[in-house]
Amino acid sequence: MSHSTKAHDSARVPSLPEPSPVYAATGLDVWTMMNQAAAEVGAVNLGQGFMSFPPKEFITRAAQKALEENAHNQYAPPRGRPALLEQVAARFGLRLGRPIDTASEISIHAGANEALLSVFTAFLTHGQGEEVIVMEPAFDQYAPNIAMAGGTTVYVPLRAQAPADAVMSSNDWKLDMAELEAAVTPKTRIIVLNTPHNPVGKVFTRPELEQIGAVAERHNLLIIADEVYEHLTFAREHLSIASLPRMWDRTVTVGSAGKLLGVTGWRVGWAVGPHALIQPTLAAHTRIVFTTNTPLQEGVAAAMREASANGFYETQRSEYQHRRDRLMAIFDDVGLPYVVPDGAYYLLVNAAAVRMPEDYPFPAAIADRGPNFRLAYYFVREFGVSGIPPAEFYCEPHRALAGDYVRFAFCKTDEGLDAAAAALQKLKNYLQN
Ligand code: PMP
Repeated sequence: MSHSTKAHDSARVPSLPEPSPVYAATGLDVWTMMNQAAAEVGAVNLGQGFMSFPPKEFITRAAQKALEENAHNQYAPPRGRPALLEQVAARFGLRLGRPIDTASEISIHAGANEALLSVFTAFLTHGQGEEVIVMEPAFDQYAPNIAMAGGTTVYVPLRAQAPADAVMSSNDWKLDMAELEAAVTPKTRIIVLNTPHNPVGKVFTRPELEQIGAVAERHNLLIIADEVYEHLTFAREHLSIASLPRMWDRTVTVGSAGKLLGVTGWRVGWAVGPHALIQPTLAAHTRIVFTTNTPLQEGVAAAMREASANGFYETQRSEYQHRRDRLMAIFDDVGLPYVVPDGAYYLLVNAAAVRMPEDYPFPAAIADRGPNFRLAYYFVREFGVSGIPPAEFYCEPHRALAGDYVRFAFCKTDEGLDAAAAALQKLKNYLQN
C-alpha cells in the first residue's frame, strides 16, 4: 500500500465524536441490571417499583376518552392543562391547608422526575459550586439531576436507631438534626425532603418537619418536598412540610400522577408552591420539555375527578396495606427482619443472616459493585426473587450504611407475592443461626 493511499484511508475514517464522560460509561443502571438478572432466571420481580397489576378501569378509560377527543392532540400550555391544574389545586389545597391558585402556583411536569429537574435547574447556577442536601438512602435520580443543573449533592444519612437483627419501625430511622445543620455551608441552596420515604418507608413526624424547616429558615434554604407517595400511608398520616407555619414560602411540593393512580408510564407529575418558586420552575420546564403530553394530562384530570368521588384512594390505600402486610408476613415466615414501612411501597429486609459462599460465581459487573449488590444478586439467582440493593441509594463513602438490606417493592399482585412466598421457602435452608 502506497503512502498516499494510507493517508487517504485515514482521512476517510474520522475519529468519532466523544460523549461527555458522565454518559460515556457503559455500566448498567441498577434497575436494568436487576431487571435483566430477574428475567434471566424467571425470578419474581419485586425490584423496580412499577405496578404488576393494571390500573383500575375508570383510569384507563379516562385516558382513552381523552385521546378520542380531537381537542387533546396538540401542545398543552407549558404550565399544564386547565382541567389538571384544577384537580391538583383541589387535592393540594386540602393537603396544604390553603387555596392554590391554578394560574400561578402549580406547574405540570413529565413525571415527578422532570418536576425535580426543573426545580434544580431553576434554583442552581452552574459554576457557583452550589450545594443541595439530600437524605440517604436517597432516590437515585436526585444526584444526577442536581449535577445536570450545575449543583453538588451533599449527603446526610438517616440513621437506624434500633438493632438491625429484629423487626424495627421505619420511624426508628432518624435524621440527626445537628448533622443536618453541620452539612449546611454558605453554598447550600436546597434541602430535598422525601416523605413518605423511598426506600425506608418513613413518614416524617411533625416535630421532625419543624426541625428541618427551622434549619431551612435559619440558612434561607429552598425545600423541595418530594411527596410522590403522599397517598400511601399505613400507620401515621402524611404531613406536608409546606402546610407548617411559614414553610409555604420556601417549599416546592412535588407529586406524581404515576404513583397516585398507578400509571407510572404515563409520565405526568406536578410542582406546587408560591408564584415566586413556581415561575422559575415553569421557565426551566418550558426549556427542558416545553410541555407535558396533552391527552394523558386530560386523562389524569378526569381520573382524579372520578377518584375523589368513587372512594378510589381509600380502596387503593387498603389494597396496599394488604400487600405490605402480606410481604411482611412472608419475611416473618422465612425468618428475616425488616423495617416496617409507614408509607410508600417498599420493604427493606435485613438479610445479614443469609449464608453466601465466598466463592459464589458473581458476574464481574455485580462483584465490582460491592457486597450489597452481591447480596441482591444472590437473592435473584438462588431464591428467584429480585430486589434492589439499597447501596445504590448511598454515595460511595456511605455505601456501608446499606448494610445487609435488600429493598423489595410490594406494588405487586397477590399472585406475584404468593410466588415470592413459595420461592423464598428455599431461603430457610440458607440461614445461619
Ligand atoms: N421521587 C421518588 C422518591 C420516587 O420513588 C419516584 C419514582 N420511583 C419519583 C420521585 C419519580 O416519580 P415519577 O415516576 O412521577 O417521575
